[in-house]
Amino acid sequence: MNFLSRKARAILPYTAGEQLRDKVYTKLNTNENPYPPSPCVLRALAAVEGDDLRRYPRPDAGRLRAAIAAREGVGEENVFCGNGSDEVLALSFPAFFDGDGAGACFADITYSFYEVFAAFFGIPKKVVPLRSDFTLDLAAMRAADCQGYYIANPNAPTGIGIGRGEMEAFIASVPDRIVVADEAYMDFFGESLVPLTKKYGNLLVVRTFSKSYSLAGMRCGYAVGAPALIGGLFRMKDCFNSYPVDAVAEAVCIAALSDEAYHADTVARIVAERTRVRAELLKMGFTVPESKANFLFAGRAAKGGKEIYERLKEAGVLVRFWDKPVLRDFCRITVGSPAENEILIKQLHQILL
Ligand SMILES: *Cc1c(COP(=O)(O)O)cnc(C)c1O
Repeated sequence: MNFLSRKARAILPYTAGEQLRDKVYTKLNTNENPYPPSPCVLRALAAVEGDDLRRYPRPDAGRLRAAIAAREGVGEENVFCGNGSDEVLALSFPAFFDGDGAGACFADITYSFYEVFAAFFGIPKKVVPLRSDFTLDLAAMRAADCQGYYIANPNAPTGIGIGRGEMEAFIASVPDRIVVADEAYMDFFGESLVPLTKKYGNLLVVRTFSKSYSLAGMRCGYAVGAPALIGGLFRMKDCFNSYPVDAVAEAVCIAALSDEAYHADTVARIVAERTRVRAELLKMGFTVPESKANFLFAGRAAKGGKEIYERLKEAGVLVRFWDKPVLRDFCRITVGSPAENEILIKQLHQILL
């Protein structure tokens, strides 16, 4: 007897990057931040009291939403928080897309969770290929028949960013379709669409504490948009989990937001290293699109991505590789600390000898 539903048997789940513990790796495979979170975060953790844990947290994450609203320059009614931005993205599918609708449109090469969520919620997908230079084909997306869009900006795993002007022109051209802008890496680019959420009722911006705030282990993400869109996310959350943001996450994320100087400093360090490491990779003969994120997408015709990935792994350096057409020439390499990046560069030189 197989007790699994047809859906559980058929669905192809998302594969997260390896979190190996068999030895100490230079871990450049899941776009984690190489720096620890702000010291304010650790102080907030130490200040958590028994009562904070004994009681249920705020079902609407009200204090955190107020802190996010203040930072983003929007109202509390424009903010929704979830257990990681993955959860916010998940809830957005049933909130804004119909199973018998025209579907959710996204690029063929982008965050692969969109495809999993569409399948899980039974929503048709409309997949638009990237252009040959890996840029997003916004004209083709506009021409697709669909109910709305998922656009990772900067895109993963390419790191390519689209400026605010081009994004605004696109959003304005599709007023009757929702545009979900996944800004997981936006702090490394600085072209957030959050200010446009006041002007466009069809724009939902999704952001996370996992990458630029060094809080991947805390699991907290949020969406900014018009109250009608935020209300849709609340309706879905309350069908699924009343308390996605726990009391510890709320306190920790508020503390992270309070230390803007630390955040800006770590982001600047990573951006500086991104430039330096890319220049090194180019010198070694890699093709590397200009990245606006905290990772580099590096390919080299002579040795495929798989060989680079495997040889680096043997040498104790983890990067991400996908055995799929187009992607298989490339590896996605997280920008680490200067010391980690040196190890990467040294090992790559040896592999390419
Ligand atoms: C990392 C990532 C997320 C999700 O991050 P959470 O840790 O769930 O907040 C969402 N979108 C993209 C494109 C990402 O790379």
